[in-house]
Formats: sequence, C-alpha cells, structure tokens
Amino acid sequence: MENHEHPNRADPWAEARKLIDAPAGSINIAYEAVDRHVAAGHGDTIAIRWLGKEDERREFSYGDLAQQTARFASLLAAQGLKPGDSVFTLMGRVPELYFSALGTLKAGLVFTPLFSAFGPEPIRTRMEIGAANVLVTTPQLYARKVAPWRHELTTLKHVFVTGDEAPEGCIALGPALRAAQPQFETVKTGPDDPALIHFTSGTTGRPKGAVHVHGAVLYHAFSGRLALDLTPGTVYWCTADPGWVTGTSYGIIAPLVNRTTMIVDEAEFDLERWYRTIEREKVEVWYSAPTAIRMMMRSGEAAAKPFDFGSLRFLASVGEPLNPEAVVWSEKAFGQPFHDNWWQTETGGIMIANRPGMTVKPGSMGKPLPGIEAGIVGREGDKVTPLPDGEVGELALRPGWPSMMRAYLHEQARYDKCFVGGWYLSGDLAMRDADGYFWFVGRADDLIKTSGHLVGPFEVESALIEHPAVAEAGVIGIPDETAGEIVKAYVTLNPGYEPGEALERDLRGHARKRLGAAVAPREVVFRHTLPKTRSGKIMRRLLKARELGLPEGDISTLETDET
Ligand code: ATP
Ligand code: MG
Repeated sequence: MENHEHPNRADPWAEARKLIDAPAGSINIAYEAVDRHVAAGHGDTIAIRWLGKEDERREFSYGDLAQQTARFASLLAAQGLKPGDSVFTLMGRVPELYFSALGTLKAGLVFTPLFSAFGPEPIRTRMEIGAANVLVTTPQLYARKVAPWRHELTTLKHVFVTGDEAPEGCIALGPALRAAQPQFETVKTGPDDPALIHFTSGTTGRPKGAVHVHGAVLYHAFSGRLALDLTPGTVYWCTADPGWVTGTSYGIIAPLVNRTTMIVDEAEFDLERWYRTIEREKVEVWYSAPTAIRMMMRSGEAAAKPFDFGSLRFLASVGEPLNPEAVVWSEKAFGQPFHDNWWQTETGGIMIANRPGMTVKPGSMGKPLPGIEAGIVGREGDKVTPLPDGEVGELALRPGWPSMMRAYLHEQARYDKCFVGGWYLSGDLAMRDADGYFWFVGRADDLIKTSGHLVGPFEVESALIEHPAVAEAGVIGIPDETAGEIVKAYVTLNPGYEPGEALERDLRGHARKRLGAAVAPREVVFRHTLPKTRSGKIMRRLLKARELGLPEGDISTLETDET
C-alpha cells in the first residue's frame, strides 16, 4: 500500500480496490468476506474462533463459513425470499448470527442486526421501520419478546429459531440448515444496492435507521487495514456486539475481508475473562470502547499484572471520547496506548484515527484516513464555512466515501439536513490543531454556554477522571439566570472512596486548578451509575432531562437506570 498518504485525486479508492476482488459492476460483501478467500486457496484458515459463555470453544474456517452461509442463503431462497427483502436477527453472539449475517448478504437481502438485550418495544419499532420479512432469533427470545405481537407485524413472513426445536409458527434453524443446499451462487449485487441497516445508538434522541450498501466493503477493507492493522492471519478481537455498527463493520466485515482470525466472545464484559482471553488466544489487535476501558481502570493495574499481554500489537477504541487518562493508563497496564478513532453509524467506517505508527496525542482522535476530507466548519443557515485551525466548530466530511450511509429509512428530510453546502455535517463539535490532529469537544447538543464561554463536556469529564476518586463522569449545563448555564457534573467513584461534602469540595478544587474557575463544575453530585446506552455511551441528555424535570424522550436504548 504505497503512497497512501497522497491518494490519487481522480480515483482516491484505487489503493483500496487492491484489497478486494470485485469484478466490474458487481460487488457483494459476503463474497469479499468469505468466498473469495476460499477460491484463493485459504479455505482452511480459521475465520472465527468462538468462545461460548460456558467456556466452549469452536472454530470455523473460511471454508466452513462459505458452506454455512451458502446454506442460509439457500434456505432464504427456498422460502421464496428475494433480493431486497429484509432479514433481522435478534440473538447473542452465537455462530448462527454470523452465518445469518453473511448468508443474507450472499442472497442479496438486506440485513439488520438487533441487540439481544432490547425489550419487546424497541424490537418491534425497529422491525416495523425496517419492514422485516424474516427474523432469526432464539426460542427463548422469541417467546419473551416477539411472540406476543408477532402477528401484528404483517410484513414478517418467517421466523427462524436456533436449535432443533421450534415453537409453533417458527422454523428450527438446525435441521433447516442441515437440509439446505451447501452451494449458492452469490447474488451479483451492485455497489449501490442496500446491504445493511443499522440503527444509531439513540444517545441524542430517537434512533435513525441508516442504510448502507454493498459498495461499502471497499472502505471496510481499506480502513481495517490502515486504521486497525488487520492483515491476513492477524488474531483480532472486536468487543462490540454486531447489534451496533462497530460490531458489524469491524466485528464481521473488515476482519473477514482482510482474512484475519477473529475472536468472538459470547459472554459480556468480565475483567478476568477478558484478560485471560487476550493471553490465551494471543490476541494481536484489540478494538474496544472507552466504557470498557474505564471499567478496567477502575479495577486497577494490579488486576492486569498476572497476565501476559505480549501478543498485543495494536489497541484501538471507539464510540465515545477516550479520556487522556485512559490512554496513559493503558500504556502502563498493556505496554501500549489505546488508539482513539472516530466515526458514526452514518459514516459506516472509521473516518479519523490514530493509525499504527502515528504519535498518539492523548485526548486526540487522530487524523482523517487517506481519501477522507474532514473539516471544522461553522454554519449559518445554508452557508457552511471552513474554520481555521484551533477554532471549535462542527466536524464535517466531504461526501462520497464508499461506506457513507445512503438514507435514513423513511426520514428523507432528516437525511437531507445532514448535507449542507457540499459537506456532510456530523453533529459533533471538534477542533483541528496545527499538526492536523482532530480533538473532540462534544456533541453539538451537549455544548454548555456559561458566562460567555463555550464548554465541551469532554474536557471537564476528562479533568475529573484524572482525580483518583473518580471512575466516570457525565457533565451537563443547567440554566442559570446570571451565567446562562452553569456546569454540573455527575460522577461515579472508584472503590475505596466515599461520597461526601469534603470529596465534592476536593473535586471542584481539582477541576478549578485544571480548567480554571469559568469552566470547572459549580456542582458535583455522586451517583452509583450513570445512564448509558446499551452500547455504552453516557446519555447526557437524560442527566439533563432528569435534572430539569423534562420528558425523557426516546429511552429505547437506555441500559443502566439511575436512581
Ligand atoms: P444517535 O445518533 O442516535 O444520538 P449516536 O450518535 O451515539 O446516537 P452512533 O452512531 O453509534 O450513535 O455514535 C456515533 C457518535 O459517537 C459520534 O457522533 C460521536 O458523538 C460519538 N463518538 C464515536 N467515536 C468517538 C470518539 N472517538 N470520540 C468522541 N466521540 C465519539
Ligand atoms: Mg449520532
């Protein structure tokens, strides 16, 4: 991959195309991820090493995946389903999830994964929006969360359940897959044909269904290689669930297209299990998220000491701002910094990253990937103006990269509003420094205006986390007659610290020293947990709504409830 700092202006994706094998005019994610490798003689390479909750361990080669996905595709076709129809999954990280995802794409249908911990209502709403024709789930999840309303969703024709026995009206996937044809000719989808729908995290409001296309695989291949160092044979672990875009783009597609061996852990976060997994499986590249890293920090360096992390060569993080303290800590605990990168459900892939070999500036998201033009802009109505380095503005991207969303399902107006003056506007605020590094400031909705200053919650939260007592922090602005807004912080504490007036004073003092009196929180309150989305993002809008007694809005993705 020579010369990728200076992409060819006429064809910025020429280098990326070398990583895939799409014949002109057609491109299919499942072919690029699986069958191409088998055709090239890599059928025996392990594609997925699956670790079950009960410590079972199963391996699937690229050849196995080719067969299982062909069986699933054959099954869909045998049931009369056609390219463009919509397949949803609702299950944990079990092998069938991966077979269904890639089998659906192979057959040219559109795939939507749902996070298995969703309750019946969020499941139903999303399946209605996506006009689901097929659901693949487990018998238990079906009985608890889908059966009660299934017949009201008239688009839903087939429900497959894992295992050998099916409740009434469902098809058991075990025998159906065994009986299905193990060969299937991959549907020749075009680069603009829909492949995936991902619902956003719902951090700022009602989740949107972002539509992604088969042509995105070009960018998955490219960004996986450049931003995560995924090369053939790499042992790679992405801890995100495929119910969120990270768990699909970089938990299924990018690693397989780059012919890595990916670790899939069915279990949820457990510190010892995670450390043991890295050691035992000899994980080389690890992609995780700030919320998990902060949980590791909370348990201290001592908990990491007994393990051998010598296999790790690259650590990356996404989903929320990565506090500088977490970068410094990971260097001590793992001998490597976590490399922050930034992207969104809408962008389909990593846009800005601390790439392998780059100097990490703790607290910065890094630089745009080659071929990606990012800017910091100000907008007034329809006028969008790039701002100079050092100024805070909206983070914007020049449209046209291959994994860009193509629609918000049934929300054309909301989609159109994202594209103004030749830019895609992300809704996040950031700053670019003189070296070209981007620094996250906050979501546009979360910005605090206090006594004439604009304060991003991230810098206040990061300062608080530097204090040894603080595990996590969420910062909001609350209305104030004189100051406009005042900064208020909610914190959770590390083991061994007790909430109280003395600690509150100490925290405010610490923040004042770090940030100055204008920016430091006027008030710090202690909480056992902070409200978060199921993908681990702090929901500041909920802290605010609760503080002000306002309606809570859409809380379909809320995980931890606060009391
Ligand atoms: P919704 O759009 O429904 O409110 P969401 O924006 O949280 O939810 P996602 O698309 O999953 O849904 O998350 C993308 C957002 O996450 C980004 O716009 C940004 O605010 C935040 N984010 C992701 N990575 C980073 C990062 N490295 N640093 C700071 N923020 C990040
Ligand atoms: Mg968003």
